[in-house]
Amino acid sequence: MRVLLIGSGGREHALALGLAADTSVQQLIAAPGNPGIATVAELRQVDAVDPASVAALAVETSADLVVIGPEAPLVAGVADAVRAKGIACFGPSAAAAQLEGSKAFAKEIMTAAGVPTARAHTCVTAEEVERALDDFGAPYVVKNDGLAAGKGVVVTDDRAAALRHAEECGRVVVEEYLAGPEVSLFVVTDGEAAAPLLPAQDFKRVGDGDTGPNTGGMGAYAPLAWAPPGLVDEVIRDVVHPTLAEMARRGSPFAGLLYVGLAITADGPRVIEFNARFGDPETQVVLALLETPLAGLLHAAATGTLAAHPPLCWRDGAAVTVVVAAEGYPAKPRNGDVISGAERPGVIHAGTARRAADGALLSAGGRVLCGTATGPDLAAAREAAYELVRGVDLPGSHYRTDIAAAAADGRITVPR
Ligand code: AMP
Repeated sequence: MRVLLIGSGGREHALALGLAADTSVQQLIAAPGNPGIATVAELRQVDAVDPASVAALAVETSADLVVIGPEAPLVAGVADAVRAKGIACFGPSAAAAQLEGSKAFAKEIMTAAGVPTARAHTCVTAEEVERALDDFGAPYVVKNDGLAAGKGVVVTDDRAAALRHAEECGRVVVEEYLAGPEVSLFVVTDGEAAAPLLPAQDFKRVGDGDTGPNTGGMGAYAPLAWAPPGLVDEVIRDVVHPTLAEMARRGSPFAGLLYVGLAITADGPRVIEFNARFGDPETQVVLALLETPLAGLLHAAATGTLAAHPPLCWRDGAAVTVVVAAEGYPAKPRNGDVISGAERPGVIHAGTARRAADGALLSAGGRVLCGTATGPDLAAAREAAYELVRGVDLPGSHYRTDIAAAAADGRITVPR
């Protein structure tokens, strides 16, 4: 198989490692990629959100499978353009990607499909927002309706801050606060059959102890020893199949990666959000534990043959990833600093670039690198991931020191 991978972040580096390790892959091309991905793939330039350019590159490289990493190309219709050339593509159509592209659309689908989620109001005017905040009370949850790279949500007790965020966004979804630990469940689907990956947990806030602003994600771990037994089966039955059926009924079947973000509340699992692609950085830990060849799995989903794919196999043990972020992230990340210590296996590149003059590795994004490691248990995986992170030198950078700590110590409880 010749595989073309679209994207350039840590998620795509993890996908590239998984694809390159699949013996059915003869050639792996990534566009635009990053210096970490360049160690396992041939890099090409492309405007990843331009459907015609990506489709042309897929034809030019004779790709048998195109894998789209980020959400923006999906929402822009890149998967549709690739499929229109007769090439298999892992990633939903633009119409189906609206499950992520619009929070209001996702709510509408969940309501129609009877999926358990937070009660919500879609609001445009300040009066509507005021009424919705009154309806649900504090803590207030205000979500930008459109794509915001995982940073469009404000959860706060400060009513003025909630109103300010709503005003900045324009159209928002205001919803009821869901209390309970969060789970990210990735489901590979061809629109009908659904293959759940291992549940993972990510860390959205920038600071230790879940303090500070939300980010794209500061770390993750899997598996979740504390998750209620039967959780995955319950979510597949009550969330995934009803959602897939509703999307198909509307003529926009969802094929690709359905990311189900859940809160495990006292009343059971509730959907916090859907995404239309792999989550970053949970992908780094989930794929580190996946034994099943990745390209074959994604190809089955892209060609409507997932029902015939063998059951997934997983490695024993646990995986942890810790993100190293640039100084100033998330508000105003500084770029262009020289990085050293990033060559070790397990160091995943997210926002890095090579300096043209001398090939030095530079920071080029908010989340710059992640240290990803596996181990016989969470404590061991955690220690190994932090060892990788401590070996990276990037001036001004910061990382959380408590990724997977509560889980490793058995301190996560599910409300009853
Ligand atoms: P989202 O982009 O919808 O995943 O929201 C980002 C983060 O905000 C989530 O991972 C949660 O930590 C938090 N969040 C979103 N919606 C809610 C909610 N209804 N109740 C509590 N926390 C939420």
